[in-house]
Amino acid sequence: MDGVTVPIEEPFVTPAGYRLMYSGDRSLGAPPGEVVNCRCTIVGARLEGTMQGVQQEQIQVGVHVLAASSVLSRSKTKQIFRAINTAGLEGFLREHPLARLDVVRVQMVGGRQINGEYDEQTRELWVNARRSEQTFAQPFRLGTTSSISALAPTLLAAIQRSLVHELAHHVYSRKIFATPLEGVVLGAAKLGTPLTFRASVGVKEYFAECFTAYVYERDLLQKHDPVGHAMIKRVREELGLP
Ligand SMILES: [Zn+2]
Repeated sequence: MDGVTVPIEEPFVTPAGYRLMYSGDRSLGAPPGEVVNCRCTIVGARLEGTMQGVQQEQIQVGVHVLAASSVLSRSKTKQIFRAINTAGLEGFLREHPLARLDVVRVQMVGGRQINGEYDEQTRELWVNARRSEQTFAQPFRLGTTSSISALAPTLLAAIQRSLVHELAHHVYSRKIFATPLEGVVLGAAKLGTPLTFRASVGVKEYFAECFTAYVYERDLLQKHDPVGHAMIKRVREELGLP
């Protein structure tokens, strides 16, 4: 596939005749044989949208993530992945790529709905596109609202927030765990005021929720948990995140 150029909204066609929107894409019916071990890089591909007047760089398969898939349309998937730019994490992912990033539909597991998951060992991350209406557009109640993603106004925005939450776990495991910064996070987790229920269940969840709140609900974070706000600000400075 090296050197093949197609318009951004049109699929690549592989030598075997399968259509892929990007390397690793199976949404158009490509069998696993067409996508496993595929580490192509889509170079120069850019999102057509602009954010705050600045053209955003598209997340590249082979650079920021080694493989990606999505059950949603290409445009919705692009919107979700744009959260990586909003969170200022494209540089981080360039240095510490995810092994997989998947938008999937997961049923309730044991009566519990999982919005996403990150595996520290495999560096695989998925977010759930199947969320009930109770998992977003919720009112804010300090320490009681389930998560920062539950405050999102729409389903798509909730998936974006869950992606940033899981990416925060990636940041923690790759750059903060067992470094002096971990002491900063531990200290804040002890003294801070968890904004959400999720933030109250442990240090890593506190970090992930503060990180997500810093991106999407900064005023709430600053107002109710200035300790967590200062912690994320410090962490972002130390890691060189914008
Ligand atoms: Zn979490």
